[in-house]
Amino acid sequence: QTAGPNTILGHPNSLFVLFFTEMWERFSYYGMRALLVLFLISETAKGGWGWSRADATSLYGWYTMLVYFTPILGGYLADRYLGTRRAVVLGGFIIAAGHVSLFFETIPSFYLGLGLVIAGTGLFKPNISAIVGQLYNKDNEGSRDGGYTLFYMGVNAGAFFGISLCGYIGEKVSWNLGFGLAGVFMILGALQFFFSQAIFGDIGTAPSKEKTAAAKAADDTPAHVVADRLKAIFVFAFFTIFFWFAFEQAGGSMTIFAADYTDRTLVGTSGLVFKVINSLMTVIPAAILTWLLFQLHRATGKSQWLGNLLLVLAFAVIWGLVIWMLGREFAMDQSEVPATWFGVLNSFFLVILAPAFSKMWEKHWNPSGPVKFGVGLVLLGLGFAALAFGASGIPSGAKTAQVSMLFLCLAYLLHTMGELCVSPVGLSYISKLAPARLLGLMFGVWFLNTAIANFIAGKTGAYIDYISSTYSMSTFFLIFTVIPAAAGLVLMALSPWMKKKMHGVH
Ligand code: GLN
Repeated sequence: QTAGPNTILGHPNSLFVLFFTEMWERFSYYGMRALLVLFLISETAKGGWGWSRADATSLYGWYTMLVYFTPILGGYLADRYLGTRRAVVLGGFIIAAGHVSLFFETIPSFYLGLGLVIAGTGLFKPNISAIVGQLYNKDNEGSRDGGYTLFYMGVNAGAFFGISLCGYIGEKVSWNLGFGLAGVFMILGALQFFFSQAIFGDIGTAPSKEKTAAAKAADDTPAHVVADRLKAIFVFAFFTIFFWFAFEQAGGSMTIFAADYTDRTLVGTSGLVFKVINSLMTVIPAAILTWLLFQLHRATGKSQWLGNLLLVLAFAVIWGLVIWMLGREFAMDQSEVPATWFGVLNSFFLVILAPAFSKMWEKHWNPSGPVKFGVGLVLLGLGFAALAFGASGIPSGAKTAQVSMLFLCLAYLLHTMGELCVSPVGLSYISKLAPARLLGLMFGVWFLNTAIANFIAGKTGAYIDYISSTYSMSTFFLIFTVIPAAAGLVLMALSPWMKKKMHGVH
C-alpha cells in the first residue's frame, strides 16, 4: 500500500531506495579507501602498520583495480542464477562483513576484509546499477538519463560523507573506528534495501536467464541489432578508460600539487571564512539528503516503514557526526587549508550539480551519448588546462611554489562537470543498449573500464615526479589536457557511426 505520490522529482519512488542503498555502500567504499594508505604508512606508534609509501600505494592500486574487476563476475552470476536484487542483498552483506573484518586490524582479518569487500562489490555494484535502469520503460523512458544522474548523486553523497567522516575519524581519532564506521553504514544500507524491497514489485527477482525464453519470444530485436548495440557498449567503455585514467591520475597528482605547489595559508579573517565555507559545504549536502529522505518517507509511508526507519537512524548518526566534527574544527586554530581538503571537492560539486544536470538532460539539452561523452572528455581536459596554466610560472625542478588554490578548485569543478557528462550517462546507455539477458554482465564490462584505467594509472603514477622535474609541472598537466580532449574529439567524430550502431537508442 503506497501512501503518497508515486514519484519524487519526477522519478519513481523506488529510485530513491536505490539512491540511499548505493549511498551507504559508496560511503563505506570511499571512506575506507580514504584511510587505507594513511593507515598502512602511519608509524606503529600511531597505530598504523609502518609500511613504505610504495608498498601501501601498490596494495591500494591492486585493491582499487580488483574492486572494479569483480563486477564482471557478479553481473554474470546475477544474469544466470541470482537475479539483480538477490545479488545486491548478498553483495551488501558480504561487503559489510568485509568492513567488520577490517575493524579488527590483524593481518589475516585485514586481508580477509579486503577480499570480502572485493567479492561483495562485484555482486553489488553492477547489479544495483542495473536495477536503476529496470525502473524505466516506454512510459518514462525520457527520464532515464536524469534518473541515472540522480542515482550518481547518491554515489557521490556517499563518497562525500565517507571521505569527510571516516577519513576524519580514522586519522584524528582511531583507525579502527574509521574502518568500523564504514562497516556500520554498510550494514544499515544492506538492511534498508532488504526491508524496502517490496517497492520493486517483481523487478530484479528472477535471473534474466529464466525470463529469456519469454523475453526472447516477446523481444523481436533482430540479432544484428543486438550485436551492433553490444559494439556500441564496448566503444563507450573503451573511451571511458581515457576518462578514468586521466581522472585517477588527477586524484593522485592534484593532491601532490595541492600539498607542494599551492599557497594555502590562512591569515586573519581568511581562516574564519574558510571555516564558514567548509561548514556550509558539509551542511548543505546533509540538508539536501535529509530533504530527500523526508520525500521518500512521505511518498512510501507505512509500506516502507522499516527501511525508512533504518535510514532515519543512519541520518541521525550522520548529523551527530557532522555537528561534532564541525564543532571540533571550529575550536581549532588553523594556519592553512589542509592539502587533503581538496579531495572532497569532487563529490561536493557533484552532489550540488547533479540535480541541474538531471533536469538539463530531461528538459533542455539532451544530445546523443557520444556527444555527451565527447563534451565530458573535453571538460576533463580543460580542467587540466586550468592547472597547466596555474602551474606555468613554476620553474622546472622547483620543489615548492605558491600557486593560487583557485586553480585547483576550478580544475575540480571542470572535472566534475565532465564526470557528469560521462559516468552517469554511460550507466544509462548500458541499460538502454544491453539485451535483458546480458544486463548484469554488460554493467560488469562497463566497470572493467575503471579496473583497466586504475591499473594503468597505478603503473604510470610515478611519472609525475619524473616529468615535473625533467620538464615542468605544467607539461605534466598539459599531457593530461591533450589525452582526454583528443579522445573526446575522436568520439564526437565517431558520433554518426555510433548512432547507426545504436539503432534508434537515443
Ligand atoms: N564515482 C563512481 C562510483 O564510484 C566511479 C565509478 C567508475 O566507473 N569509475 O560509482
